[in-house]
Amino acid sequence: MSPILGEINRRDFLKYSAVTAAALGLSQADVVTKVSEAIAASTSKKPPVIWLEGQDCAGCTTSFASALNPPAASIILDTISVRYHETIMAAAGYKSEEVLHATVKKGGYVLLVEGSIPTADRRFCMVGGRPFKEIVEECAKNAAAIIAVGACATYGGIPAAGPTGAKGVRDIVKNKPIINISTCPVHVDHLVGTIVYYLTTKKVPPLDKEGRPVMYFGETVHDNCRRRSYFEEGIVLEDWNDPKQKNWCLIDKGCKGPDTYSDCSVRKWNDGLNFCIDCGAGCHGCAEPTFYAGMTPLYSDITGKADELKEKTRLGSAKQLTDKQRKEV
Ligand code: SF4
Repeated sequence: MSPILGEINRRDFLKYSAVTAAALGLSQADVVTKVSEAIAASTSKKPPVIWLEGQDCAGCTTSFASALNPPAASIILDTISVRYHETIMAAAGYKSEEVLHATVKKGGYVLLVEGSIPTADRRFCMVGGRPFKEIVEECAKNAAAIIAVGACATYGGIPAAGPTGAKGVRDIVKNKPIINISTCPVHVDHLVGTIVYYLTTKKVPPLDKEGRPVMYFGETVHDNCRRRSYFEEGIVLEDWNDPKQKNWCLIDKGCKGPDTYSDCSVRKWNDGLNFCIDCGAGCHGCAEPTFYAGMTPLYSDITGKADELKEKTRLGSAKQLTDKQRKEV
């Protein structure tokens, strides 16, 4: 048994092997062996990780910390070496800044950035007495790989709708590839799977035009939505209070699934239990660069797609359905 299998149990390991298998172009059997060897070699030295937080709510950290399979503690303690993370590190003050500087000086670390970077005024987000933008630029210089974690760090997110001139990492660091793991918050599988891919191949995974790993962001939420058959028939929810409509398509209530690239509807959240659309809310488009300002109002059809759909589908608006048709639906 390789060292990595001793640290993460076999079920967890197979899960992450499966996550990277398709992207590596290997069969499941091959990938178990190859990923095992590569990660074991990497983890014998525990790759250093710096996790910075700027204008954020720590939601991505919370998402990561709530990982059940494998537990976040196992990832942090056994697989990678987190040298700096404001929310979870025990050190504080000068001591923690010293560790950050020493790690940056040595280089070769994976840099994770959570939260957006203010540009309107250097005083908007100061950490350890320095503007956050300066810290990101400094840490990016010697990083082996840079991952923007969550909607704010990738494209500005919710803070970009405010007055701070909030930007994503790609707008600040332009001379290195940035891996964008969007969604608000980040999905722990997307993050850990991308780190595993990098440790295994020492390469950035294939990215789409927005810098997102294609293995997770290659299809829209709409492509695999379980309400899709209702969409095709033009059967859309118009009344939240009507129990008969509870499974109908949410496009009229502002669902942004047709324009949002992420595998949420297949992978789901909360350890595969559910996700926004399964809970009765439309997709808010949090994986897209235009989130948040460009997706509001969240519960309105801002694209006009619902009306187009009703025009062209056989049954038309749910309001036009007869009682008999409602029962059939
Ligand atoms: Fe598409 Fe949203 Fe309707 Fe699902 S609920 S079918 S993602 S429009």
